[in-house]
Parts: sequence; structure tokens; C-alpha cells
Amino acid sequence: MLKLIYIVGHERSGSTFLDILLGSHPEITSVGELCTFYRYGVVAEKRCSCGEKVVDCSFWNEVKRNFLQRTGKDYFIKQIKIQDYFEGKYNLPGWLFGSIFLDKKLKRYLDVACSLYQAIADVSGKQIIVDSSKSRLRAYWISGLARRKKVDIYVIHLIRDGRGVVWSHKKLYKNLREKGVNKLGFMVKEATWFVTLRWLRVNILSDIVSRIYADNRVIYMRYEDLVQNPIQEIERILKAVGLDASPIKTMLLENSPLSPTHVIGGNGIRMSQGIVLKPDYEWKGEMPDTAKKLFWGMAGWYAKKHGYKNFYMQP
Ligand SMILES: [Zn+2]
Repeated sequence: MLKLIYIVGHERSGSTFLDILLGSHPEITSVGELCTFYRYGVVAEKRCSCGEKVVDCSFWNEVKRNFLQRTGKDYFIKQIKIQDYFEGKYNLPGWLFGSIFLDKKLKRYLDVACSLYQAIADVSGKQIIVDSSKSRLRAYWISGLARRKKVDIYVIHLIRDGRGVVWSHKKLYKNLREKGVNKLGFMVKEATWFVTLRWLRVNILSDIVSRIYADNRVIYMRYEDLVQNPIQEIERILKAVGLDASPIKTMLLENSPLSPTHVIGGNGIRMSQGIVLKPDYEWKGEMPDTAKKLFWGMAGWYAKKHGYKNFYMQP
């Protein structure tokens, strides 16, 4: 059976790096945020990590052809709608009552999601796929594929110290502003309180959604452990999916640069060739004390549960 490694968690937590690192194993194909496929497949300007536009990339065109052969019709636009229906943020009624009242629609959603995973497996020639969409709702709904024994799904909940996430967002919006992108709403989106609340919401929902999968299918991982002990952490994942870790181990020991193949969506690092592991702890020195204190006041109770310490309590 086809195996899927699905990453959930907050953005800026290292998921694109983990996705690409796993994809460097000869038996795994990493595709990035697959939830963007339907959109990027029709939007001309979006680029794949190979450098081509997604609409021109030979890999994704082959996947699209294979996918359309399976689904039988040109479902692209329809599929965007059905995916939005199930994975859209505000579809709470769908989330609560979906499996009871939406049987036909849900079956269609699952069939098409399954066809896409199978098309990727066919084209890449690999039976293990990494999808780093991160969406909790997607993780929730595709669990139907695991229940129906169509895809064997492993969920990784990747969490990073929220202060690192807050600081990474501040830098992201600063860079965007410097590039001349100045959308209204950045002020709120980069505010410490806003990112902190979102970090709490996303991680608590990731905890909840992980519980619907069997224990041996859920891997909890901290960004800090991944960057400090990458071999040990990657071994945990590969052992769970039944793969030998030595190809990735060798790469990490030699510090070989990683080259993503056809990754769509996700952090901008996917566009670079020759990615090396570079732990990012800049927030410790650069983040203002007031922001650190605000984060800890709001989210310290949850951060502590995940082994994070109040910066000011450390000797
Ligand atoms: Zn490509």
C-alpha cells in the first residue's frame, strides 16, 4: 500500500526542510505543500523548486495527466472548490457533521485526493510520499483514506519554540516590506500577540488531529531536536515507515547539500539548490525582551508542556 508522511504544525517550524530532507531518501518523493497543487496547476506564475513554472514543469504535467486519467474528467476547478469546502478554515459544520451528512461529497473528495497521491507515486516511481501541507483539516479529512485502507498515513507533528516562530514572522514581513510588498494587515500578522495566539491554536489543533491516528502512526518532533540531532530524529521517522536510514545518514554525516526536486508551496528555501542544515536560534539574541515576555505570559503554559523553558529562568 502507498505510504504517506503528512506533516502538521505551524508555518516557519522547519517543515519544508524536513520535507526536502526526507525526499533525499531514494525511496521517498517529497512534493511540498500538496494542497496547493490544484491552484498552482492552473496559476501560471507559481514556481516549482526545479525552477520551472508549475504549469510548465514536466513532473507536474505528467502527474496532472496521470491524475486526469484516473479521475476521468478535468476536475481542476471543481477540485479547488471541493478542497476548499473541506479544508477551508471556516468550515466548522463540515468538520463536525461532515462524515454523517456529506457522504457522497466526502467520498468524492477522498477519491480525488487518493488519485493525486497515486498519480505522484506512479510518476515518481516511489511508494512513499511526503506531503507538508500542514493543514490540520486536511490531516483530519484524509484520515478517511487510512480508515478505508487506501493509503497508509503517518503524521508528523512538528513544533518549534513559539518565540522562534514569532521572530521568524517578524523577519519575513520585514523582508517583504523591503521588497516593496506592503499589504495591509502585515502589522497585525507580525504582531507578537497575533502570532502567539496562532501558534497556540495551530499546535493544539495539531495535537487533537494527531489523536485520530493510531499511536504507531504519529510522530511528535521538535524543530530544536531535529536541527540538533538530525540523524536520530530522521531515524525515528524512517523506522516507523519501515525504511533503512543509511542513505540520509550518510548525507547528513558528510553534510552534503540537499537539492529539492519538484517541491511546490512552502518556505522559500525550496527554491535554492544546495540546502544545508542551518539551525536558526537568532531570536534568542535578537528578539526584544518585551516580546519574549509577552509570548511566555500568553503561551508559556503550553510551551512548558513541550519542554521549552522560560528564557529568564535559565541559569
Ligand atoms: Zn518541477
